[in-house]
Amino acid sequence: MSDAFQKSLEKYADIIVNIGLNLKKHQRLNISAGIPDIELVRQVAIKAYQLGVPYVDVRWVDERLSRIRFDNADPESLTEVPDWLIAREHEYGERGDALLSISSSDPNLLEGVDPALIGKYRKAIAQKYEPTYKYLDQNTQNWCVVSTATPAWAKKVFPGIPVEQAQEKLWDAIFDACRVHQDDPVKAWRDHADRLHRQCDYLNGKKFSGLHYKAPGTDLTLGLPENHIWIGASSTTVSGIEFIPNLPTEEVFCLPHREKAEGYISSSMPLILSGNMVDAFTLTFENGRVSKVTAKQGEDHIRRLLETDENASHLGEVALVPDSSPISQRKHLFYNTLFDENASCHLALGSAYRYNLTGGSEMSKEQFIAAGGNDSLIHVDFMVGSNQMDIDGIHADGTHEPVMRRGEWAVSL
Ligand code: ZN
Ligand code: ZN
Repeated sequence: MSDAFQKSLEKYADIIVNIGLNLKKHQRLNISAGIPDIELVRQVAIKAYQLGVPYVDVRWVDERLSRIRFDNADPESLTEVPDWLIAREHEYGERGDALLSISSSDPNLLEGVDPALIGKYRKAIAQKYEPTYKYLDQNTQNWCVVSTATPAWAKKVFPGIPVEQAQEKLWDAIFDACRVHQDDPVKAWRDHADRLHRQCDYLNGKKFSGLHYKAPGTDLTLGLPENHIWIGASSTTVSGIEFIPNLPTEEVFCLPHREKAEGYISSSMPLILSGNMVDAFTLTFENGRVSKVTAKQGEDHIRRLLETDENASHLGEVALVPDSSPISQRKHLFYNTLFDENASCHLALGSAYRYNLTGGSEMSKEQFIAAGGNDSLIHVDFMVGSNQMDIDGIHADGTHEPVMRRGEWAVSL
């Protein structure tokens, strides 16, 4: 490891602990990470303990072991999840401890595995973990998702060069996107968050009742529930800790009305579902529900996803990202939602975030659904934005007003 890289890694850990998580010294830190993430995990632990944190707990995940299980285990046993894993999340969640997830999956991990089997596995895991989702959904915990440049992922993003070189390029991209290379990352993040907050203020001030998307392959009208809240950059826990859940982040997002989507929308980037690619797909919506799906590649995988539960074919997130976003300007795919979603306007199938609705966190599931929020075992982002996309805001009286033109904000913010 070169000195320069070591310094960058330390700065990255500092940004994760102090800006992403905004970790407090009374909190324990619950990390989930892969074996190749170990250098970053160690740096994060150093920062956390120096801050006064009493305990850093790491759950190591080796994704090759998941593949080994798919290839060798009795298919009926794939839904087995030990209770202590769930209890672990409850313990940290109930205490309001901090949660860091390092997610750098091999985009091809489950290539060739039967989609039905993956679907069943995904559903079983989600069902087991569902009771723990409330801690994130209701902002009981400050949490953050980040990535490291693992060899398998780097090889996919930068094919055709030696893997060490690919990793170096991917690390560079991660550090850039997370403002590690800036002289004063804290100030850079503050300025960036201010910019995203201005975009939210503008959209929240407009109180649009819907949005209309127009692009090649796309003509979709979405409703927005009354009392929706646009959020960007940071969230705040119920105990008052302001944190940035995703590093990097370039989006402002909200919840669409689960029953109000009409028309069709086409993907602008491939979607990776458990290590399988779904590409060039179009979803048609009627009364908020996907009524038709076509895809050039991986149609079976997206169909399985939509069948996860009864609400998996309704939308749970609408996010705006200008085409000039620095991640979009890199002009290559990352095959990782954390990065790709910050390059493009996107939507998500499945669950909506409670905090995108005034009073949402206090609502029962039934109340949230009645208010237009969606509730599902899945939340899967897919990219739809491009420099050919126009988006209008729709007022309650039915009049339209430009929000984005050719992929950029129509107003200066
Ligand atoms: Zn998003
Ligand atoms: Zn999302």
